[in-house]
Amino acid sequence: MENMPRHRWLPSAVGALLALSAMAAAAEAADCPREGTLGTSRVLAVDPKLYPRVGLKSFPQTLPLHDHEVVLTFDDGPSPLTTPKVLAALAKECVHATFFLIGEHAADHPDLVRRIAADGNTVGHHTWDHPSLPKISLSRATDEIDHGIAADELALHGVAAATPSTPFFRFPNFESSPALLDLLQSREIAVFGADFWVSDWIRMTPEQEFKLLVGRLKNARKGIILMHDTKAWTAAMLPTFLRYLRDNGYHVVHLVPLAPDSGAKQL
Ligand SMILES: [Zn+2]
Repeated sequence: MENMPRHRWLPSAVGALLALSAMAAAAEAADCPREGTLGTSRVLAVDPKLYPRVGLKSFPQTLPLHDHEVVLTFDDGPSPLTTPKVLAALAKECVHATFFLIGEHAADHPDLVRRIAADGNTVGHHTWDHPSLPKISLSRATDEIDHGIAADELALHGVAAATPSTPFFRFPNFESSPALLDLLQSREIAVFGADFWVSDWIRMTPEQEFKLLVGRLKNARKGIILMHDTKAWTAAMLPTFLRYLRDNGYHVVHLVPLAPDSGAKQL
């Protein structure tokens, strides 16, 4: 949830390696569904009118997931150091996630934003630079939300649109206010909390994180999971976690925006 230092440059050798791994991951993503992988079990189109805010950590309502169904969400990216590893892990298991991007990071790394989407993942919004929105004025908070959406849309589609192509938003640190919740609802932008998280804003080893996450999953049995694609330990842990989901009968649900002709089941 917290912000991270931004990396404005990369040594060329690292950049070349990332490009190679990106090509390999894109090939794997294009080759889905693939036998032996976890795979996305179903696609759900979320209607913000029916589900204006979801996630039991913040709200009384959440998505109607079945037992052993999970939704993977990642916040605060993209980061050139860790997001490619997360994308590679998802592509290897043929699963899709929702990424709530920080607009400033999207502006710095539009190529990564496009890759997130090209791999079949969903792009949601997480403000321009991750302030605590209730601590600033309503007009500044509104600007933060709008600027973030515009930056994400510019990276995705080349146009700084005010209306998000995917109307999904998550508050930085889950800090909302009644006025901002009303504003987003009036604009038909669904607010995503989480049903549980892995607390990866705390530094830990991938092994510790895996144990913590599996313990919380066993307790919750289903739900929207919050992780951060900006954390090295999460990127390192993810392949093991996805394999655990596959081996233990869990199913990954992919959320998409509501579209009349999408063919997805409408919530
Ligand atoms: Zn965040």
